[in-house]
Amino acid sequence: MSAEVAVVGLGPAGRALTHRLLARGVRVMAVDPHPDRPWAATYGGWRHQLPSWIDDTAVGATSGDTRLVARGNHVLAGEYLVLDNERLQRSLVLDGATVEARWVSDKELVCLAPRVVDCRGNRVGVPGGVAVSQTAFGVRLDPHQARPLLAGAEAVLMDWRPFDGTSHWGIRSPSFCYVVPLPDGRILAEETCLAGRPALSQHELASRLHHRLRVHGIEPPGQHDADVERVHIPMLPRPGARHGFGAAGREVNPISGYSVFSSLARADEVADCLANGQPWSSRTSAWRTQALESLLQLSPEAVVDLFDAFGRLSPGSQQAVLDPGTPDGPLLRGLTQQWMLMSGRNRLVGATARGLFQRGRS
Ligand SMILES: Cc1cc2nc3c(=O)[nH]c(=O)nc-3n(C[C@H](O)[C@H](O)[C@H](O)COP(=O)(O)OP(=O)(O)OC[C@H]3O[C@@H](n4cnc5c(N)ncnc54)[C@H](O)[C@@H]3O)c2cc1C
Repeated sequence: MSAEVAVVGLGPAGRALTHRLLARGVRVMAVDPHPDRPWAATYGGWRHQLPSWIDDTAVGATSGDTRLVARGNHVLAGEYLVLDNERLQRSLVLDGATVEARWVSDKELVCLAPRVVDCRGNRVGVPGGVAVSQTAFGVRLDPHQARPLLAGAEAVLMDWRPFDGTSHWGIRSPSFCYVVPLPDGRILAEETCLAGRPALSQHELASRLHHRLRVHGIEPPGQHDADVERVHIPMLPRPGARHGFGAAGREVNPISGYSVFSSLARADEVADCLANGQPWSSRTSAWRTQALESLLQLSPEAVVDLFDAFGRLSPGSQQAVLDPGTPDGPLLRGLTQQWMLMSGRNRLVGATARGLFQRGRS
């Protein structure tokens, strides 16, 4: 029997969607050149963002004490998780789907089935321009090596202190260190450029990370592929992306670059729409995209102030800013509180950014 829905791309978004369509009895064709290729990236997010149908074995590591370090050291509410990709992939069973191992072109995409979902990720740049992207370079460390980076916490979502041990960034583009436990018991320490047009290069980030490790008395490990993670995430949807879900759609949070937990959380809603022949709508709020544009205008020190302000928000407001599904009202309240909490020295910059924010909106 022919497929009712074609899902193109079997990364976390496409595989989760296919799995949830099958659970509804929908006939699905799933196409990916490497349907069972292991997912190599480290996928982190918050426990409350994960849907209840995800098998608990897919959670590979947890942190109940997650910090954000900027001007102060802030404890973030909630449990931070890192997924066990192998177990997650295995738990998203595709029995009953017709799986084809091949590439699908843009032209072919729309002809595959009555309803088609593009889950091919977002690897494409902006033609004629420089895309806003997030870059990071990370190394996997033994827990005893990573201890000075964690300073008693179980994970550090962002450590915005300059990598060279100085107290100010000056005119340099700031980067932060992301330190999280991994399913194999090691710790990932990743120097991250949150967003840039263009973002910092891998070479620059590797050099900063090595510097940071040495400042903490840690000898940087060699660069064997198994011990290194290189990240490049386009922060805005692919131009002209249609029928998209996951990073190919609008699931990427333009402020964090994350999309996996959001795609998992939305898979049921999108599967329901597809099963009932209804369209589904974009998730990314225009406010978030505008907030990203404003962030790109800030001075290095103002960026640190902005994230320090995030650390001082109430847990509810932090969640509103982080969760991709937050409706515009609470999102705007959270973002405004964050701007208002920025220190006096940078209020002016905050105000300018707010102006840009409003102009872009009108
Ligand atoms: C190193 C790294 C770390 C990241 N960490 C996080 C994180 O901690 N948390 C988070 O939420 N997000 C993270 N992200 C961002 C984002 O969530 C990931 O990029 C995620 O993989 C997106 O999932 P996806 O299923 O939408 O797309 P992808 O994982 O990119 O999957 C796309 C699939 O489509 C297939 N495909 C591509 N082209 C075609 C074609 N022409 N025809 C058929 N199939 C095709 C590919 O083979 C692939 O299987 C990270 C990204 C990177 C690179």
